[in-house]
Amino acid sequence: MKQLSAHSFEIGAIRPPSEGGSNSLLLRITRNCPWNRCKFCYGTFYNREKFQLRPIEEIKQDIRAVKAISDEILEVSRELGYAGQINHLVGSTIIEREPELNQSYCFITVFNWLASGGRTVFLQDADSLIMRTTELIQVINYLKEIFPSIERITSYARSLTICHKTPAELKEIRAVGLNRLHVGLETGDDELLKYIDKGVTAEQHIMAGRKAKEAGFEYSAYVMPGLGGRAFSEQHAKNSARVLNEIDPHYIRLRPYLPGQGTPLFEECKNGNFQVTSPHERLREIKTMVETLKVTSHLCFDHIMNGWRKESGALLFTQDYEGYKLPDEKGRVLELIEEGLRVRESLHIDARKKGAMRHL
Ligand code: SF4
Repeated sequence: MKQLSAHSFEIGAIRPPSEGGSNSLLLRITRNCPWNRCKFCYGTFYNREKFQLRPIEEIKQDIRAVKAISDEILEVSRELGYAGQINHLVGSTIIEREPELNQSYCFITVFNWLASGGRTVFLQDADSLIMRTTELIQVINYLKEIFPSIERITSYARSLTICHKTPAELKEIRAVGLNRLHVGLETGDDELLKYIDKGVTAEQHIMAGRKAKEAGFEYSAYVMPGLGGRAFSEQHAKNSARVLNEIDPHYIRLRPYLPGQGTPLFEECKNGNFQVTSPHERLREIKTMVETLKVTSHLCFDHIMNGWRKESGALLFTQDYEGYKLPDEKGRVLELIEEGLRVRESLHIDARKKGAMRHL
């Protein structure tokens, strides 16, 4: 076995929970966020680092590093008689031979990716579509050429960036193999969008969602219950539902908000200008939103911040990545919300107590 730790590639800070669930390969094709101003986010994920486009050759070098790691893992599997199958014994043999790989995020990522079939990739960081279309296409084509097993490629994208691409460009990017866009709507309320400095309007969110869907992308929209605190709660719920109704995304993913230390919104909270909602208040906000929704989306509670509990202590909502299919399961979701509202607030896991405010 050649030295595996000699190969490395860049991995960014975050990925959607669903991409973790599918053990997607994480490939960093840009660094950080080109906007980097949202009041709830600035200073957390991307650590106030400047946005950078990466040279195409550098990204290709990373893809080759993934390939080298992958080839060595497969070689060990064949050597042990598993014919390319990736299992626990393959992993432990490699770690025995090269113990430092136990701490290597690159090795662990590629190993888990292969063990899951090597089919899904998530392109990092916050807004891959901001790359020149021709360059993004080059990267995707190269990735698929090196790994023909890839079936799904996904990425984060900002609504404004999607708005700036032409329909033809979006179709081209979709056609080469970018399947799904994860977009942070956060809210559909214009006043709140302005307050959090999202840099986009509700109408631009709608335009982006429709354009992406028309180009054939699967659209995964993130909404943050509690983002507007008590002051914006009702308008946040109703206007988010309005925007979602206009888009009808494939997925609506809820990511409840609590202020993260070091962010501008955390400071407002400390100064008393922002009143954090309680677990029941966030549930009521979701209830208003769900009641107003007229979509055919999957409604997902697949983020750790969805910590509401049943009386038994079990999670109130499934954290499954496919969630609840609307409209069929709308009644079920509303029933669960009522159940959650009957549970004492102190029994709901408020992620603040688990340090989640520091790790949004
Ligand atoms: S666009 Fe996304 S990554 Fe960038 S600052 Fe806003 S929330 Fe953070």
